[in-house]
Amino acid sequence: MKEFAKDKHVEQMKEYKEVFWVNDGYTGIYDDTEITEEMVREASDRLKRFAPYIMKAFPETVETGGIIESPLREIPEMKKYLENRYGISVPGKVFLKCDSHLAVSGSVKARGGIYEILKLAEKIALEEGLLREGDDYSVMAGEEFRKLFSGYKVAVGSTGNLGLSIGIISAELGFDVTVHMSADARQWKKDMLRSKGVTVVEYPDDYQKAVAEGRKTAADNPKCHFVDDESSKDLFCGYAVASERIKKQFEEQGIMPSEENPVFVYLPCGVGGAPGGVTYGLKKMFGDNIHCFFAEPTHAPCMMLGLVTGKHDEISCRDIGIDGKTNADGLAVGRPSPLVSNVMETLLEGAYTVDDAQLIPLAENLLELEEIYIEPSACAAFPGIKDIVLSDKYKDSAAKGTHVFWATGGSMVPLELRFED
Ligand SMILES: *Cc1c(COP(=O)(O)O)cnc(C)c1O
Repeated sequence: MKEFAKDKHVEQMKEYKEVFWVNDGYTGIYDDTEITEEMVREASDRLKRFAPYIMKAFPETVETGGIIESPLREIPEMKKYLENRYGISVPGKVFLKCDSHLAVSGSVKARGGIYEILKLAEKIALEEGLLREGDDYSVMAGEEFRKLFSGYKVAVGSTGNLGLSIGIISAELGFDVTVHMSADARQWKKDMLRSKGVTVVEYPDDYQKAVAEGRKTAADNPKCHFVDDESSKDLFCGYAVASERIKKQFEEQGIMPSEENPVFVYLPCGVGGAPGGVTYGLKKMFGDNIHCFFAEPTHAPCMMLGLVTGKHDEISCRDIGIDGKTNADGLAVGRPSPLVSNVMETLLEGAYTVDDAQLIPLAENLLELEEIYIEPSACAAFPGIKDIVLSDKYKDSAAKGTHVFWATGGSMVPLELRFED
């Protein structure tokens, strides 16, 4: 075990206790060194350019004009349930951001993952002269493009949902795609990918190992693009575009984030890319009127550990004797993304850990009360509301605020496996 100063949060983490941590380093300001607002704008523009292609390749997106976006739904019955479950009172409205139901891949990874592959495809097609600026991108669904992309490889290491997202979009474009899956990845995800012509390589080890193997096989092939979940800026920017979309949805719901109506956002965190990108976008858009918190399993609190100790990716859950074993498969990560933990140092207001035993009852109740299924991992968001409502620092603003749980996955889970451990 490595040495570091004794910290009460770390001591609790070692015992797998549920912990709530408020970030002393929060300033709300990030000076745009590694990630810039310009990069996020570019991502947003690129997704608009690709909308005609997306509509053609994935007809379920015709309704939204080829823009992959999810509803923001008020969940009043679930709110009552949470009030009872935790013995709290929540005066404001409570919403679910349903990325669990994003088109194409049914999880938050349909933001970052699909964006990174579209950017890659655009670059190759422009370089090879098959595409010109100003073209209607629906041409990319054509056979000559598939033939072009079949000469290029894509690789990714994943606990499941990123693999699903990268695999589906890459195979659709015609890339030769390999997904390196960790032991905790679900069988149905591997089966679905294989049915779409994706090569799936399985590892008996954890997520970090799957990523490392993917990176290694891609490294010596210039025609292989490795989607690096631990440090990709493209993934991050794809996730960050969520903020301009939710701004419109807030307006439709009559929500104007302000000092009088602050918005609290609860985001399940694995390696950090998805919740980190969303948080970056939201903080740039709404500043101090929005408060973002990450949720992690008690057995894999990698981001909290990296931020609490200030060691970022230089400390892993194993270093403090935590086993990383959790049923929250999308969150089973032992070491945070160095890129994201750095950006979150000043933008994230805090984090909390959740015992696995809470997840399935939360998923069951959400389905029963609101008729929405989200996967157990995504339910890690819910318990955070009690930490905020009961905390000295946030209780007053939480009482006049709006609460948004970020539902990160679920709509593609087969019915019979919905409540499996
Ligand atoms: C990937 C994922 C997350 C977290 O995203 P990271 O980028 O790994 O932090 C949360 N929930 C679900 C269901 C996921 O698939």
